[in-house]
Amino acid sequence: MNRERFIEQVRKLLGDRWVITGAWETYPYSRDYWPLLVYRELRGLEHVSPAAVVLPETEEEVTEITRLAEENDIILVPYGGGSGVLGGAAPESDWVVVDLSRLNWIRWYDEKAGIVDVGAGVYLRLLEEWLQSQGRTLRHFPQSYPEAVIGGLVSTRSIGQYSTGYGGIEDMIVGLNIVIPRIGKLQVKPVPRRSVLLPLDHMFIGNEGLYGIITRVYLSTYELPECSEKVGWKNESFNDALENARIIVRKRIHPELFRIYDERESTLHFGEDGSISIGVIEGSCRIVEAKIEDLGELIGKDIRSGSSYAEKWLDKRFNVIEDLWKLYEVGMGFETIEVSVPWGWAYPLYTDSLRKLDSIEGLYFAGVHASHFYQSGAALYYTTAYSLEKIDDVYREIWDTLMEEASKHYGSISHHHGIGRMRLKYLKLEYGEEGIHFLRQVKKAVDPSSVLRDDPLRLG
Ligand SMILES: Cc1cc2nc3c(=O)[nH]c(=O)nc-3n(C[C@H](O)[C@H](O)[C@H](O)COP(=O)(O)OP(=O)(O)OC[C@H]3O[C@@H](n4cnc5c(N)ncnc54)[C@H](O)[C@@H]3O)c2cc1C
Repeated sequence: MNRERFIEQVRKLLGDRWVITGAWETYPYSRDYWPLLVYRELRGLEHVSPAAVVLPETEEEVTEITRLAEENDIILVPYGGGSGVLGGAAPESDWVVVDLSRLNWIRWYDEKAGIVDVGAGVYLRLLEEWLQSQGRTLRHFPQSYPEAVIGGLVSTRSIGQYSTGYGGIEDMIVGLNIVIPRIGKLQVKPVPRRSVLLPLDHMFIGNEGLYGIITRVYLSTYELPECSEKVGWKNESFNDALENARIIVRKRIHPELFRIYDERESTLHFGEDGSISIGVIEGSCRIVEAKIEDLGELIGKDIRSGSSYAEKWLDKRFNVIEDLWKLYEVGMGFETIEVSVPWGWAYPLYTDSLRKLDSIEGLYFAGVHASHFYQSGAALYYTTAYSLEKIDDVYREIWDTLMEEASKHYGSISHHHGIGRMRLKYLKLEYGEEGIHFLRQVKKAVDPSSVLRDDPLRLG
């Protein structure tokens, strides 16, 4: 490794201002929102800052940085908004962080088609505000909407609160550019759909910075909805709520934003017994009216009567980080874990996993909601709170339990947070030995010197 030489070369390329090496300035890059790292920092424990942070402004500079990194045997890790929750953007002390925040353009690529051309470093919130000023919307609202940037969202295959109506980020991407060490800038032009080997754009959505650095994304946008109505209702039980959701989704009259809470989370968030469902139905006013009527008839409920549940939730929908600090102040840790599961296994997974979680010593709370629905199943989202004093044991036990249970019940180990560092050890549960072998071979082929972090190669 020739770090000094690398830093010198990158200083020449970008200018001194865009290469950071001081301990104080590199400190903010020492973690993302992986709770283990957040709690280490809050408890004043040692943190790991990167050797340097570099801030390229153009795709050509990103390409050159990967070339120089290979020449000098340096490991790079791309950094977006740092809102990942599994340690994916967190560096080792000898790695160099590539902060993409200067790739920050937003412009129409094709106004008639509603395709917007966005740099990887653009904050999602800024993009949405710009789009709304043009009468358009991406309709992608993850709970990290204020913190996340486009490159990070694409690299983790993120999903937003309106996913049941509009899909995940993968449904909005119509093209992208990605810089791959040795290969250079791969350009996948924006088109409505393609059927061309693999295809390359989708191959790199969710690559988490292991196979390339996303520099530019073309996103398809929607017209702002004419009408938007909040709905809500109470179900007898979470099993009932799941069954209602399945029927609603099957008939394709689901709210665009749709969430159901188990009894525990219904008490916590709404102070109610039973299992609460909330939704936002959007579209032309006539369609919204018709949908509300049909949906109410289908499940036999007055779904307007619970609109205050939806209002209450919408008011606080981006307050997760605030809640995390509040719990910390009373000595509690917080972890959220999401998995996906086919309909037939959703309730068995729910009951079996909660029974096991409840037996973990030091765990104070475990509850579940579902907020992303498909014809074939749903995502279950677990919220847990535990004693921070016991974090070292409890944390791993929660993870081991949920990953094993999801896998046993034919679910996926991750619905949208990705793998990061935390989930690497469970990857085999998802893809098996053959899958890991394939991932390793692709990594060796596209990045043989491991210029980008190489954790998957170290698996097994
Ligand atoms: C409060 C809170 C709420 C959240 N809610 C949601 C939610 O509703 N839905 C959801 O999907 N996620 C959610 N997340 C998780 C997180 O916001 C997402 O994973 C998001 O996509 C990460 O984006 P980022 O820009 O912060 O990426 P980062 O955290 O900076 O990076 C994430 C990963 O992508 C890699 N990466 C970053 N930029 C690039 C690039 N340009 N090219 C290649 N690799 C890159 C990094 O190396 C890292 O591995 C939440 C997180 C928090 C803290």
